[in-house]
Amino acid sequence: MNTISGETNIIRGFSISPGLAEGQIYLHRDIFDAKDSFSQTETYNADAEVDRLDRATLKITEDLLTLAARVEKEIDIQLAGVFGAHSAIVNDALLKEELRREIIENLVSAGSAVKSVFLRWEKRFLQMESIIAREKGEDFRDISIRLRNALANVTGHALENIPPGCILATQRLLPTDTLFLASRSTSGVLLEYGTMGSHAALFTRQMNVPCITGISNILNILPADGYALVDAQDSILTVNPDLQARTFFSARIKQYANDLKLAKKNSQLPSFTEDGIEVAVNANIGGKEDANIALEHGAQGIGLYRLEQFYIGRSVPPNKMELLEEMNETLSAFKGKPVCIRLLDIGSDKPLPFMGFLTEPNPALGRRGVRLMRQFPELLYTQLEAILCLVKDYTVQILIPMVTIPDDVLFVRKALTKLASQHDITPPQLGAMIETPAAALSASRIAPHVEFMSFGTNDLTQYAFAADRENIEVEDYYDDTSAVIFRLIELVHHDIPKMPLSICGELAGRQEAIAHLLKLGIRSLSVAAPLVPSVKETIRNTNLASKMV
Ligand code: PEP
Ligand code: MG
Repeated sequence: MNTISGETNIIRGFSISPGLAEGQIYLHRDIFDAKDSFSQTETYNADAEVDRLDRATLKITEDLLTLAARVEKEIDIQLAGVFGAHSAIVNDALLKEELRREIIENLVSAGSAVKSVFLRWEKRFLQMESIIAREKGEDFRDISIRLRNALANVTGHALENIPPGCILATQRLLPTDTLFLASRSTSGVLLEYGTMGSHAALFTRQMNVPCITGISNILNILPADGYALVDAQDSILTVNPDLQARTFFSARIKQYANDLKLAKKNSQLPSFTEDGIEVAVNANIGGKEDANIALEHGAQGIGLYRLEQFYIGRSVPPNKMELLEEMNETLSAFKGKPVCIRLLDIGSDKPLPFMGFLTEPNPALGRRGVRLMRQFPELLYTQLEAILCLVKDYTVQILIPMVTIPDDVLFVRKALTKLASQHDITPPQLGAMIETPAAALSASRIAPHVEFMSFGTNDLTQYAFAADRENIEVEDYYDDTSAVIFRLIELVHHDIPKMPLSICGELAGRQEAIAHLLKLGIRSLSVAAPLVPSVKETIRNTNLASKMV
């Protein structure tokens, strides 16, 4: 075993929630595994086991629904949605039948059946390429633990006794785990698994808990009694630091808290550079909770409303009224303000349950974003119809994802013009996402059909470097701050200098890139809601007249 004891060790991970934290390490293992084997001395009765399983399922369904209501009220609506979805999964007819068969055909206890069937489902999802599917695997693990607890009459949770102020180190943070952290003021989280889009990331960002992931073999390399400095700004973990490092880090934490306080104080003010150029700072959102955080943090508008989150939780596509209701609810805090709604960007890293038939050998290069809507225009019409109902209350813009050729834009333009004239509405502004090198290199041919453009630098980087944005094995190739990306942005601005350009990829929130972006003609940034105050502060400290980039 490779445990770090006593001596200082520095480990590089991957930050999924920013910030700085220090504290005692608290190692958390999944201790459940041995509990549910069927005792050979008991008389086995398959019907009784099925009955036990049914009762446990009923019990946890009630628990999950109560939990979802409580979490929605007290913590976060998105997290609440996760528990609502868990109650649907545990009652899924296919899953229930598989469990029943496992008991009857293999003559095992309800607990063993849950363990093996859920493990099978979890593995299926974990083997899938897509990040969302992998998170589903985590959902199955979480439900399995809950169900087995109910069968074994175990109440309480292993994290119930986590001391306040410590640094939690565990392999993965399951949705249920997060609830205990919420009430235990955990300072930081260290994980082996968990990506930017995982539940763990969603929760830790939401609760402002710094989190570093990607720490291999975490439970064996971290000492249970160690002390940790978690630098989730630079993705560095220091275990057992010496006194000097600790003192220095404590001072950094203080400074960081002060900077944040100052940035928040000024966050509702507009942001002008030192030489008086105004730059709009908007927020990227996926649901209502993000929108509330965006408003609180001073976002001037919504620069990217990702609709996928709403579609992903559904087994059939929403109709116009359902979509409209969701959009109205999400955007209500931004009435009268600019809101940029991105048309559905599914496929590749964002697959949909009801589009499961779309199996392609290389989905990132297949039918995603606008390509899929061109093939299934009903998907597009429903969205446009719903968006047109919003124009009386919001300053709406529509953004097209994954534009590659001018025809992609023309297709949407034609549909929008037709539907708007049918309803006698002036069509909202239409914009193209520039997230493929082809779109950047042919921006002047796309420009006549749109009113604005927004760089999706996450995908632009993926496609420019031919490096999967989700694949840690090629992360050295994936560099969104590279000169290559700035060059593409510069080229677009050069070719169509009058076109309003914004950035809505992660690059917009990187402090070190902001001055460079503004000098290339960008006057609008859209970032994760909690980053709005610090991005505004960076703009205020930038002087476009100065020669330094
Ligand atoms: C992007 O690609 O930069 C972007 C903003 O879109 P998404 O991350 O949703 O693909
Ligand atoms: Mg994208």
